[in-house]
Amino acid sequence: MRANTADPFNADVIAAALDKPARFRLEIIDRCESTNTLLLDAVQQGAPSGSVAVCEAQTAGRGRRGRGWLSAPADSLTFSLLWRFPPGLPAPAGLSLAAGVAVARALEGLGAAGIGLKWPNDILADGAKLGGILVETVTAGGCHIAVIGIGLNLRLPRAIAEALEIRAGSLDSVMPHAPSRNLLLAALLNALLSLLDEFERAGFAVLADEWLARNVHAGQLVRILAEGAAPVEGRSVGVDADGALLLDTEAGLRRIVSGDVSLRPA
Ligand code: ATP
Repeated sequence: MRANTADPFNADVIAAALDKPARFRLEIIDRCESTNTLLLDAVQQGAPSGSVAVCEAQTAGRGRRGRGWLSAPADSLTFSLLWRFPPGLPAPAGLSLAAGVAVARALEGLGAAGIGLKWPNDILADGAKLGGILVETVTAGGCHIAVIGIGLNLRLPRAIAEALEIRAGSLDSVMPHAPSRNLLLAALLNALLSLLDEFERAGFAVLADEWLARNVHAGQLVRILAEGAAPVEGRSVGVDADGALLLDTEAGLRRIVSGDVSLRPA
């Protein structure tokens, strides 16, 4: 592993760039398996809402359904945010999509062009995946708790590009002047905080139009793949208030819930 002397994480720099630093508790970790796993464990120990784990070298980053997330020190940003929803709120449906809106807002605010979202949880630009989101939820004492993990490629080392079956991309190709990872992290946390406040008040419904405006498959024929089930083909015509994908199929409008499915161009 090459040491990151060029752009090291610095808690003071991050805190100074946060709109509301008191809402976060940041931990910078040199090496861990997965920041989501770390914060899911921290939930059991009573870690507060706003706990953030950012890691330089994630050795077993996770995507959905046991898939891996590859990262490289210095060239990636991998972090997770723990969020405790107030008692009485329903399960946070559509939170992966909402988090995608927050990431897009933050990247665009920093000058990134052409950021798109792929249902349910990918960040793309020019058809290449430059980021992923993994939302995992637990309940405790009648409250829903989410751990929102985000991985972004700032640059794309050849070893990662070659290890992936999909086409990956990186921020340096969509941002002429990439910010330091400290400022990028702060911008993402600022965007997540304001979005989570909105989400708590009104759910994903109020964010759906913003998500749809960036939907890379809007109006396109897509195929939904699920293990042990026949693929479903249809035209991507929207998302509902819970973040489910709406597909216009030969058999009528189908509502596809994320979880165990993958979306591909048809
Ligand atoms: P799909 O797009 O097939 O539905 P997914 O949404 O289930 O995939 P995620 O959980 O978002 O996948 O992320 C895991 C997948 O992302 C991996 O299987 C791999 O294809 C891809 N991946 C892993 N690391 C990176 C990376 N650094 N950059 C881009 N893509 C990556």
